[in-house]
Amino acid sequence: MTSALRTRAVHAGRDDLTDLGLHAAPLDFSTTYPSRDSMEEARRIDEFTAGGNVTGIYARIGNPTVERFEQALAELEGFEHGVAFASGMAAISACLLSAVAQGKRHIVGVRPMYGSTDHLLTSGLLGTEVTWVAPEDVAGEIRPDTGLVFVETPANPTLTELDIAALASACGEVPLLVDNTFATPVLQRPGRLGARIVLHSATKFLGGHGDVMGGVVACDAEEAARLRQIRFATGGVLHPLAGYLLLRGLATLPLRVTAASATAAILAERLASHPAVRTVHYPKLGGPLVAFELTGDPHALIGAVRLITPAVSLGSVDTLIQHPASLTHRVVPADDREEAGITNRLIRLSTGLEDVEDLWHDLDQALKAC
Ligand SMILES: *Cc1c(COP(=O)(O)O)cnc(C)c1O
Repeated sequence: MTSALRTRAVHAGRDDLTDLGLHAAPLDFSTTYPSRDSMEEARRIDEFTAGGNVTGIYARIGNPTVERFEQALAELEGFEHGVAFASGMAAISACLLSAVAQGKRHIVGVRPMYGSTDHLLTSGLLGTEVTWVAPEDVAGEIRPDTGLVFVETPANPTLTELDIAALASACGEVPLLVDNTFATPVLQRPGRLGARIVLHSATKFLGGHGDVMGGVVACDAEEAARLRQIRFATGGVLHPLAGYLLLRGLATLPLRVTAASATAAILAERLASHPAVRTVHYPKLGGPLVAFELTGDPHALIGAVRLITPAVSLGSVDTLIQHPASLTHRVVPADDREEAGITNRLIRLSTGLEDVEDLWHDLDQALKAC
């Protein structure tokens, strides 16, 4: 199946280009689309309001470059529809608003998850109410007003893995939303295991070069229609240039994730036998991320790397290292952080495409500093 995914990663969203006489995807920057036929425009707006996917009226309704990315990602995740947003958090916000709009403001969540997502759910900023549960207790916390079961696997930043199929059956009628940012469709397609909504921070592996921000949701037609209405009403659209770059990123996604995962597996093994490292978390699924706890000072390690980039975010061509308790998960209350396994000694590494020996050399010399 890997070869098929690699092939579709290159061609998805581009199947019509040869017949159009084009090689690169057309990039359409229009904010508005002229028409001499207002009656036809009215019909198209009605079609959009009724749940249709319409482009070519106004850029907040839809954009053809972005739509290519949406279709390609949906295909790679095995869903009918994709809806793209300005960032991962805009995508998450739209999913929460969609639940609220259906009168279902209760969310069941499993910690840990990305710090800003945790904060958005815990704060209830969008009118939702969260119940945090252990994965095995999901079924017992579902109420008549539960709109979503929201999980991340492997989870940010501890790389804890969840059994998606078991969760999906525990959810019953309630949609299971899986944030698949860490695994990408290369390593895991949650839709096959029963997840009804799959979400990405496209800023990470999908873009892959640390130069584009975006978010995307793969789902069925009914949810996609609601998300497009929410996007139209709230304005969190993905810029066409971002859509172009994300479509380009998808073509190399399988190669990048496979290569970075092979490197990460080697680094995880070497870290596990390093005297300055207490524990290593590396998913059974594999993947480009490694988390590890130090016996010494995590801040000294971050300060001592020279090749590796000390920065938040992940999924870039360069290897990134960060201290979750100081940065990505700072917004999670300290007690909740500890309880979710995000200790002060935990470091998160996102492996890039550099040579593994160069990366190890840098890690090893930096570990001496702590
Ligand atoms: C980064 C991230 C997000 C948020 O995405 P942005 O594009 O930064 O808004 C959501 N979930 C996970 C797992 C992430 O790593």
